[in-house]
Amino acid sequence: MANFKTLDDFDLAGKRVLLRADLNVPVENGKVTDATRIERLIPTIREITKVGGKAILLSHFGRPKGKVDKAFTLETVVPAVADQLGHPVGFIDTDWTDVEQARKAIDSAPEGSTLVLENTRFHPGEEENDLELAKRMASLGDIYVNDAFSAAHRAHASTEAIARLLPAAAGRAMQAELEALEKGLGQPKRPVIAIVGGAKVSSKIELLENLIHKVEALVIGGAMANTFVHALGLGVGKSLCEKDLADLANTIMAKAEAARCAIILPIDGTVAWHFEADAPHRTYGMDAIDPDGMILDVGPGSIERIKGAIDEAGTLVWNGPLGAFEMNPFDHGTTEIARYVAARTKAGKLVSVAGGGDTVAALAKAGVKDNLTYVSTAGGAFLEWMEGKPLPGVEALKQG
Ligand code: ADP
Ligand code: MG
Repeated sequence: MANFKTLDDFDLAGKRVLLRADLNVPVENGKVTDATRIERLIPTIREITKVGGKAILLSHFGRPKGKVDKAFTLETVVPAVADQLGHPVGFIDTDWTDVEQARKAIDSAPEGSTLVLENTRFHPGEEENDLELAKRMASLGDIYVNDAFSAAHRAHASTEAIARLLPAAAGRAMQAELEALEKGLGQPKRPVIAIVGGAKVSSKIELLENLIHKVEALVIGGAMANTFVHALGLGVGKSLCEKDLADLANTIMAKAEAARCAIILPIDGTVAWHFEADAPHRTYGMDAIDPDGMILDVGPGSIERIKGAIDEAGTLVWNGPLGAFEMNPFDHGTTEIARYVAARTKAGKLVSVAGGGDTVAALAKAGVKDNLTYVSTAGGAFLEWMEGKPLPGVEALKQG
């Protein structure tokens, strides 16, 4: 991509490279329980260290609220980084008010070292995007590399201000994420179809409003579809439904029509009478939902319809499960569509990009998490991207 630099643009030999990582990993009893975020950093660390650069990792960890609180020390995560790297990793303590000791430790470390600096949130200036703190951070390095897309929706000292103080680049994980997102909605292969599901319209208003201007077809599923179905005057029984948002749903449908975006709503639903796994269930047409039942999944007719729409698309972006996928068998619609998307992707017919906490879990449950073009684990940053918002941590990398 043309508008930001990558590792290819720099000679890293002998350089102190400040690498913004996302080391905010889950920890239980002092041990990292999921090292996925660390794994994704390894290629960038290796590229820096193999030519004799020093990889100096900067990250937040938990919510110490701007104070030194050793319950949130990043020292906890150092063994997991060393494990993934297969190489010793040093830890550099600092309270971020004075970085002289940290500078000495960095300068005396041998070339090719990997070092982890203390939690950036030990200083209140981090979340305030404070320029003075960013200057102290920047004084510890020659080059700034950001590999933490998942933190890019926040304008913090270590993600935003610092990027304007040093030559800056995207790391390999950030680069991969940005290139995938560009294929999703930036310069996509058309037509583009979006699938939006999940529980509530209220949490995805901006996302829907953005997508209707970017895609040719928008599939709405999950409980949020109930709000649209209700807005059209049909009954949804005891289903989860935000009835007070009927006007908004109608407005979105009218705007979509004006923008020539087809809205694809479920035509049938799998209805149960108890909100629990393996609850007895039946399929109903959307115009005949049992008034005592709850729609927990899209029905077989809807699944066929969605597949047909996917067949016509060159690109798919997906956030939100199509049903209450955590409870079998109400994962059926989500699983069927996930596998279909994976198959179309494998056949070279579809570029597929998905993200969102529950969406990633649903794709994993369907066994296809690694079979889409790109699955983002970034959470909030991915959703803000889908909402069309500029991400401060990415914008700051776009310098001259
Ligand atoms: P993500 O985390 O990927 O952004 P959301 O949090 O928006 O996704 O939505 C996921 C939640 O929506 C899941 O917990 C799922 O059970 C719920 N959900 C989807 N469809 C239904 C439905 N028909 N009834 C009740 N809950 C549903
Ligand atoms: Mg969720």
